[in-house]
Order: sequence, then C-alpha cells, then structure tokens
Amino acid sequence: MTSTPPIINLTPPRLDEDCIAQRITCIRPKRAKALKLEGQIVDGKLIMHNYGAGGIGWTLLFGLVDHSVRQFEELVASNPQFANRPIRIIGAGCMGLYTAIGLHKKGYQVAITAKEIEDITSYKAAGIVAPSKITTGKSAHEAALIERLALSAYATYMAIANGTHPYISAGARHIPLYAYPGNDDTDFTLTHYVTAGLISPPTTVMIDFGTGKRYQVAHYETLFIDTVTLMNRLHDLCRTAGIVITKAHVTHFNDLVEDVIFNCSGLGATALNSDAAMVPVQGHLIALKHQPAAPAHEYIIHARVQTVGRNGYPRTEYVYFVPKGEGMLGTSYITCQAGLDTNAHEFDRILQRARNFF
Ligand SMILES: Cc1cc2nc3c(=O)[nH]c(=O)nc-3n(C[C@H](O)[C@H](O)[C@H](O)COP(=O)(O)OP(=O)(O)OC[C@H]3O[C@@H](n4cnc5c(N)ncnc54)[C@H](O)[C@@H]3O)c2cc1C
Repeated sequence: MTSTPPIINLTPPRLDEDCIAQRITCIRPKRAKALKLEGQIVDGKLIMHNYGAGGIGWTLLFGLVDHSVRQFEELVASNPQFANRPIRIIGAGCMGLYTAIGLHKKGYQVAITAKEIEDITSYKAAGIVAPSKITTGKSAHEAALIERLALSAYATYMAIANGTHPYISAGARHIPLYAYPGNDDTDFTLTHYVTAGLISPPTTVMIDFGTGKRYQVAHYETLFIDTVTLMNRLHDLCRTAGIVITKAHVTHFNDLVEDVIFNCSGLGATALNSDAAMVPVQGHLIALKHQPAAPAHEYIIHARVQTVGRNGYPRTEYVYFVPKGEGMLGTSYITCQAGLDTNAHEFDRILQRARNFF
C-alpha cells in the first residue's frame, strides 16, 4: 500500500502586472566542454585563469577559487621568479572578489581591475545550488574535479549559513527546495551532496498553493545563495582589507604592469584570452514586488514543465522561484546569445509559465 505524501501549504507569489519590479537579462559565462581553471606563463607573466563556469559559478565559487589559489602556489614553487610579486586580478564578479580576499588573507599584495563593478552577472544570478547537471557532458577527469570542488564549496556555504564561517557572516541560508516532477531524479537531483552527507536524501511531499494547484515533488533541505548580500559582503571585505578596485577595461594582459595576473573576467575572457570555446548563454529573470511579508516565500521551486514554443513545437522549460529580494522568477537558457536586449518575449513566457504553475 502506498502512503499519501504529507501536504505542505505554500503561499504562492503574486504575479499580477503591478507585482513586476524588474525584468533582468544577464549572460552566463559558459565555456564549452570544460571551464578554464589553470595557470600558464605567457610573455613572462603568470596568468591564472578561472572562468567559464556558466550557470553554476556561484555553486562552485569557493571550490574554484581555493583550487585556483592552490594551483598558483604550486606554480610559484616551481617558478620562484613569481614569488612575492604584487598580483592583479581582472574581474569584480564573485570569482574576482573572492580570489582577491583569499590571496590577501594569505599575505599577498592584490588589486583588482574590472570593466564593470555593479551591473554584472554575479549580482543578478538566481542563487540556486545547481544540481547534478554540473557533471553532465564533462570528461571523467573534469567531472571528478567539479564534483570535488562543488562539495567543498557547499561546505563553505554551510559554514556561512550556520554562522561558523570565520569572516563571511551572511549570504547563504538554509531553505526547502521543491523539485518537480519529484519522481524524476535525472532532472533535478542533489545526489552528489546527498551521497557526501551534506544534504539529507529528498522526501516526497505534496505542495499545495491554495489556488487549486498542488504537485507531488521531491523536497530537499538545501541552501539559498543570496547573491546580492554575498557580493556586498565580498565588497565590504575588500574595502576593509584595503584592496583597491579600479574600473577599467583590460584589452591585453601586457597592459598590466604586474607579472602575476588572475583572469576572472567571465565572458570577457572570450576576447581577453582569445578563447573561442566561450559560449554566452542568455538568461531572463523577473524580480517581483508587492509580495507577502517574509517568511511567506522562504522556499525555492525548481519545476520542469512542457510548453509549446513560438514555432508551435513542444518545449521543455523551467519554472524557478527563489526568495531573492521580494521574490524572483526564472529563467530562460538561450545559448550563443550575448545581447542584453534580445529575446524580450522570454519575459512573457516566464510569467505565463509561472502563472500556469502557481
Ligand atoms: C540568469 C542567470 C542565473 C544564474 N543563476 C545561478 C544560480 O542560481 N546558481 C549558480 O551557481 N550560478 C548561477 N548563475 C551563474 C553565475 O551567476 C555565474 O557563473 C557567476 O556569476 C560568474 O562569476 P564571474 O565572477 O566569473 O563573472 P562575472 O560576474 O560576469 O564577472 C566578470 C567580471 O570581469 C569583468 N571583465 C570582463 N572582461 C574584462 C576586461 N577585459 N577587463 C576588465 N574587466 C573585465 C567584468 O566587468 C566583471 O567585473 C546564473 C547566471 C545567469 C545569467
């Protein structure tokens, strides 16, 4: 006999036109097949690359940066001409800021140059700990590395959420995530984290929005990454440490006087490092306002739904809801699109999907 799953009553987001605060477009800095996480010596400069994590940069942040700093120290051990040199970091996204802080904590003299400081992807991202797809399509070697870095990043987010991180006091919190359809763990699963004992195995529950819409879903107790809070915190830490951030566009590594450079330029690496493997992946998000007071919306929805595209063909799309600000809906995933003004019809599609779902 199958038992009925427990019912969880949730307050749905308000989705009327006057509840739309902002329509946001941003670009995932994805590198096809493999992200770029390595050092190389070019024209007498040591360039440490860390870019290309696409839609999972926040998920991997602490793992990627700690690994990059370790790679740097290993390279310096065999190339002592780069020891104790001032370091320039290109990029003020989450990768660049945290790299600067990590290096500063180890006693290095660091400074940042960034083309843009505020209106960038790292602020705009949704903040979901990305699921097992992190290893899809990767070589066995890269999949193993990414899994390891994802677990170590998650452990750092746990420390932030638990208040035990030594210097990051805010930016991640515990939250229930409801994944639909709940019986399809090929689509959304945090299996790597569950196997490592960082997340409890999912349970099956029925979520009910009180609107006539209820769904059987997989319930994970996981973390929400509050990307704006964490970016602000990383900026505070840079300020306190005296790390100077200069706003400028670097067109060539030789433009910089430093001979040790961390390249955390995200999509900018396409031109800066002549990297043809970079693929811009456009995403649309909708920030909400006039929502019920917290904690009514303290949950994440990750739902896969079947829709019909503008060409009349069936499409698999997603309904995301995260408690960012007053609430945020997502998202599109359009590869090879670097423009911030194109595909504005995606906002209507996101809204329509959300209205159908909730
Ligand atoms: C719609 C959307 C939703 C997302 N949601 C999630 C999520 O839920 N979970 C998750 O894990 N990830 C998510 N991401 C992905 C995540 O936001 C990115 O992987 C991450 O922010 C990348 O950080 P970054 O520091 O590498 O790049 P960026 O934030 O893009 O920063 C790059 C920096 O480099 C600078 N720069 C570039 N070129 C140059 C140059 N030539 N000279 C000087 N400076 C330069 C830029 O101005 C900027 O300061 C999402 C992304 C999008 C688009």
